[in-house]
Amino acid sequence: MRIGCPKEVKPQEFRVGLTPFAAAEAILRGHDVLIETGAGLGAGFTDDDYTAIGAQIAPDAKSVFDVAELVIKVKEPQAPERAMLREGQVLFTYLHLAPDAAQTRDLLASGVTSIAYETVTDARGGLPLLAPMSEVAGRLAPQVGSWALQKANGGRGVLMGGVPGVRPANVVIIGGGVVGAAAARVAVGMGANVTVMDRSVPRLSYLDDIFMGKLTTQYASAAATAELVQTADMVIGAVLIPGAAAPKLVSRAQLSTMPQGAVLVDVAIDQGGCFETSRATTHQDPVYEVDGIVHYCVANMPGAVARTSTQALGNATLPFLLALAGKGWRQAIRDDAHLRAGLSTHQGRLTSPPVGEALGIEA
Ligand code: NAD
Repeated sequence: MRIGCPKEVKPQEFRVGLTPFAAAEAILRGHDVLIETGAGLGAGFTDDDYTAIGAQIAPDAKSVFDVAELVIKVKEPQAPERAMLREGQVLFTYLHLAPDAAQTRDLLASGVTSIAYETVTDARGGLPLLAPMSEVAGRLAPQVGSWALQKANGGRGVLMGGVPGVRPANVVIIGGGVVGAAAARVAVGMGANVTVMDRSVPRLSYLDDIFMGKLTTQYASAAATAELVQTADMVIGAVLIPGAAAPKLVSRAQLSTMPQGAVLVDVAIDQGGCFETSRATTHQDPVYEVDGIVHYCVANMPGAVARTSTQALGNATLPFLLALAGKGWRQAIRDDAHLRAGLSTHQGRLTSPPVGEALGIEA
């Protein structure tokens, strides 16, 4: 099969859909691999790294989209990319369609068969293609949040770990899944006073076990959230309802109950955000303020550490890529119900019920 990998065009996105390592695995199995020139540079992979393992280099994105039977990417296709997609082609990438009506419309109009990384499942009920990026975003969240807490960056001037005789920062993490646990690990490591909230009691039990008293767990009722945000220096939003828009868990009215200069890090922004006042920002301009509260809402956080992220994502996508290319998408999803869970659009039809529900389109 002809596999194509264009350069990412979303602002400040430096990851690439295919590492030279993954491309080599595909080529070994007899597939052709076409990479847009410079696609890997942001992650530290040169065109020569790809040609050395037998991949071909295309001069521009159009040359990739025109001939690729399977397009592998990182972020959801941007409008100019969507205009190059076509029926009979498979698109394998993150899509996050639920909060994105314009993209959904364009994918349906193109007829492309799109498979979303973020809704592929595994035998343990996890999301294996979201997990590596969630690990990265989760570990980054306290790091960027602590930067935003500094006075010069709009924050209230609180040090995460405090110092002897001065209390550490209060960090509240809403959602204790992969992002939440990774954020907790780093926030605890920085010496903060950490509370993780979730609606899953088994998940809270698990976190309680593995952190052995280094953090507090709290059931995420609306009342408990309202109470905890009042003393929070940092709130990290890390909830997920797979394939659906994130629920709004902190309202605008609640901002006035928080300490001035506190920081909200909305990692769930790629699903529409879990704070009422969240709107997506970029790495170039990551924070803004509403009612004295600093908001960090970068939708592609892992792009900040593109090399680590690209390698982690490549490890996770490779088995699925090889199945799609080796068997063709129909047989691959017939053989693997977990991969089938990623199927989002095909020949102008929406095939993801949660996305249909979020957007009011029949699926
Ligand atoms: P996950 O499924 O591992 O965890 C989500 C957790 O949220 C679960 O434990 C679930 O029980 C909990 N939850 C659901 N509804 C809740 C509620 N109302 N209150 C409290 N908890 C609730 O998901 P994840 O991999 O940790 O991803 C979390 C979010 O981060 C997702 O929206 C994902 O798309 C996003 N994400 C963003 C970036 C970025 O760059 N901004 C990167 C990776 C992931």
